[in-house]
Amino acid sequence: MSQEKEYSLFEEVSSFIDEAAAHMDLHPGLVDQIKQCNSIYKFNFPVRKQDGSYEVIKGYRVQHSHHKLPVKGGIRYSELVNEQEVMGLAALMTFKCAMVNIPFGGAKGGVNINPKDYSVDQLERITRRYTSELIKKKFIGPAIDVPAPDYGTGAREMAWIVDTYEAFNPETINAKGAVTGKPLSQHGIEGRTEATGLGVFFGIREALSVEEDMKELGLTTGTKGKRIIVQGFGNVGYYSALYLHQSGAKVVGVAEYNGGIFDENGLDIEALKKHQNEHGTLKDFKNGKFVENSLELLAYECDVLVPAALENQITIDNVAGIKAKIVAEAANGPVTKDAEKELLKKNVMIIPDMYLNAGGVTVSYFEWLKNLSRVSFGKLEKRYEMEKYKLLLDSIENATGDTFSDEEHQKIVKGASERDLVNSGLEETMVNAYHELNAKRKEKGIKSLRTAAFILAMDRIAISYMDLGIFP
Ligand code: GLU
Repeated sequence: MSQEKEYSLFEEVSSFIDEAAAHMDLHPGLVDQIKQCNSIYKFNFPVRKQDGSYEVIKGYRVQHSHHKLPVKGGIRYSELVNEQEVMGLAALMTFKCAMVNIPFGGAKGGVNINPKDYSVDQLERITRRYTSELIKKKFIGPAIDVPAPDYGTGAREMAWIVDTYEAFNPETINAKGAVTGKPLSQHGIEGRTEATGLGVFFGIREALSVEEDMKELGLTTGTKGKRIIVQGFGNVGYYSALYLHQSGAKVVGVAEYNGGIFDENGLDIEALKKHQNEHGTLKDFKNGKFVENSLELLAYECDVLVPAALENQITIDNVAGIKAKIVAEAANGPVTKDAEKELLKKNVMIIPDMYLNAGGVTVSYFEWLKNLSRVSFGKLEKRYEMEKYKLLLDSIENATGDTFSDEEHQKIVKGASERDLVNSGLEETMVNAYHELNAKRKEKGIKSLRTAAFILAMDRIAISYMDLGIFP
């Protein structure tokens, strides 16, 4: 059986919403409101190429849900970017933020380019022009819509974006909060680069800690010795693999777009990254076996498969080959709905994207709070700075409803580093959210953690919409 209908991430997300709604008692009009994208902005802009010719580039920014403002979500640079994809990714951001109780609506942006085809200078011009289009239409701002990195972008692009934003908005006092994932020199926050991967690690660790669930899967508890295969070795895949490896798991396979590597004795993740940086490929790494068609690696024996690249990777066409007991979605939308059904039939646990990769936006939230409170950071040795730091801590507590333990407070008063604060806030968020999610799954008597995640998130969004009322 092959997947004949054209794949649309937005339609996939919509059908996950319907599935969750069937377990809830929401007014159909409200479900429809929750499903739709509130604003879609698509535009074309020209760039001048080195040889003097011009190219017209497609840009998008989609704000999925205005139930909380600002809306939040990354900007993706990829040749696969299209309206349906950005709509789907924006919707996922809404549910992701609600799932981990981060007070943002969801959004996503995209530029249809392969960044590898452009020079740094061209990328800067594309990024600044894209930003100016968002500014023109008020699709960016610390209180409106706050972009961040995603596939194909990083801190460098965020620095260009914030600089362009500030150039056009010289009177906006908290302009740095218009973008997150910035370099530290541009008021970024320690730990943002690693945040998604660290969150993925915390999420997998929590899932593996529940004895009752692991027994059902035929696995022992704990990460130690677990065989892991990771698809994607960019920012998210690399840090997910690294933290899993450091916790004693055995990362036996890593799949990249230009070939994968497998070693049943486990790969040295830092050395593998170094090798990739030097050679541009995973080929010829130590004793590893190179797998030309890296999709094949997804079907190798392992306990946990971590797709950390793009959507639509485990589909009805290759799902039969999957041998993992747990599929941990570090990417957005890597497992299609049809494939999910098959995996659940085989008793495979799927840790859903909207929970598992929420570490990035969680730390983005800390960065945004830092920018709004205009706190200076670093190792906090001076009393004065500690007081200001406590203010930030209080604002995180007030906003999330979580409390830091006495021990954590003590650590901060003694002068904990910014990274300590970020990582402990991230850990607490991921740990609490996992157990909430799993409890909801059990309460509803369902197998799918994804459905449970949508139920939890939709409940929160519905309450927010009902309290808002309808204007006018
Ligand atoms: N692009 C990331 C995501 O998909 C991060 C978004 C953000 O930090 O706003 O979750």
